[in-house]
Amino acid sequence: MSVPTTDEERTLSAECILGQRPGLEDLHRQCRQIADVPLPHSNGLLLIKRCGCGCHRPGGAA
Ligand SMILES: [Zn+2]
Ligand SMILES: [Zn+2]
Repeated sequence: MSVPTTDEERTLSAECILGQRPGLEDLHRQCRQIADVPLPHSNGLLLIKRCGCGCHRPGGAA
């Protein structure tokens, strides 16, 4: 029962394999963020945390 709001929201990352499947778009919308974005001038703090789901884990499929 999900209603798409914007076209931008429907744009999925090519990095997310699962997100390209019908029905999983919403779950994997956040998969566009595949890398940690560090906060400038800070040591170790993150501005944006990367998506933690398993579909694009470093190292790939086990
Ligand atoms: Zn994903
Ligand atoms: Zn993800």
